Amino acid sequence: MNFKSVLDTTKQMDETDPLREFRDRFYIPKAKSGRHKIYFCGNSLGLQPKEVEKLLEEELEDWKSQAVDAHLQAKRPWLSYHEQVTTKLAKVVGAKPIEVVAMNSLTVNLHLMMVSFYAPAEGRHKILMEDKAFPSDRYAVESQIRFHDFDPHSSLIEVKARPNENCIRTEDIQKIIEEQGDDLALILLSGVQYYTGQAFEMEAITRLAQQKGIRVGFDLAHAVGNIPLELHQWDVDFAVWCSYKYLNSGPGAIAGCFVHERHARNTALKRFAGWWGHNKQKRFLMEPIFDPLPGAESWQLSNPPILSTTPLLASLGIFEEAGMKRLREKSIQLTAYLEFLIHSKLENEIDILTPQDPKQRGCQLSLQLKQKERGSEVYQQLLLKEVVCDWREPNVIRIAPTPLYNKYLEVFEFVQILKEALHR
Ligand SMILES: *Cc1c(COP(=O)(O)O)cnc(C)c1O
Repeated sequence: MNFKSVLDTTKQMDETDPLREFRDRFYIPKAKSGRHKIYFCGNSLGLQPKEVEKLLEEELEDWKSQAVDAHLQAKRPWLSYHEQVTTKLAKVVGAKPIEVVAMNSLTVNLHLMMVSFYAPAEGRHKILMEDKAFPSDRYAVESQIRFHDFDPHSSLIEVKARPNENCIRTEDIQKIIEEQGDDLALILLSGVQYYTGQAFEMEAITRLAQQKGIRVGFDLAHAVGNIPLELHQWDVDFAVWCSYKYLNSGPGAIAGCFVHERHARNTALKRFAGWWGHNKQKRFLMEPIFDPLPGAESWQLSNPPILSTTPLLASLGIFEEAGMKRLREKSIQLTAYLEFLIHSKLENEIDILTPQDPKQRGCQLSLQLKQKERGSEVYQQLLLKEVVCDWREPNVIRIAPTPLYNKYLEVFEFVQILKEALHR
């Protein structure tokens, strides 16, 4: 196929895309030329839904005109504000409403979950995580191990990719579970690995772990709003995520947390408590004895930050309209198209670290330059050409075309720009 016919086909894919109208619901950064930038950085910070501004103004107005009375009398009463996102959030992660709560930020939630689900004892004190996990997760895990007076050298196990492979095989996780399962207290993995874009087989891993009595948690920072999740059905113990990546809820947005229903009323679980986790009917009796709510809500410490929850409310409305099923269908095609163009035009210059099997990845492809030393220069060229993407040392460019606001034409143009940059 020649350039013109590929271009025509690409435009046609955009015209027939059933989700094409959602792009208009977002602000897309403008380039100097006046055109929109090609924004492939939703894995780092999602774009702003246009509706956010209006909703935020309403909250500011309620604060201005009602002040403390807005807790009960606002259009969206602040007292129960976090409850307004629960049902929609539960849908996105495949959970029951009692199992999810929007609160804090990701790493805070990870610590709160480990307080409850990492209970090391002599003989069962190890945590399994992936090699090269996101640093914050690694710091959190090490500090939890130390907090319990164990030593990360003996208590932290990392599963690695095999030599000359980029991604981690489920069978290698299985092997560790078989060999060291009795020592493992917790398995903590990413849903989608931030660097390689690999989606772990969460259901299978959870089943293997539970046969050995190991608790299982997932960090869904790069999975939520990106791949289909069925946390309830998969039976995972807990999960945490942030909302500013694929969930488009703005910098530092309120994060999320899942605790499986089977733990909902287990008051024997140790936890750090705060008044927002206390029985709602009795919260303002100000009694000294903590009476935990049933479900994930009981892990809340403080009253929620209204102004950082509002964008999530707007964003989840869009997710509900689009539906995870349709988003995933488009996402698979959009990423497959990127993969196809790279394979056919840049095979000699680029390796793709991300698995080829769509079931084992989300929308992101991690592109590794074969000419290592040119990485940073090529990335600078992309920036000059108004492509927004992200660079990770030593030579990986992460490209995340998202089904809500990216077009096939942007994928096509990106590959052209990348090709020119590589052939300079
Ligand atoms: C983005 C990301 C985080 C960020 O943590 P915050 O607590 O939101 O700052 C943590 N873990 C992973 C895997 C991430 O991708």
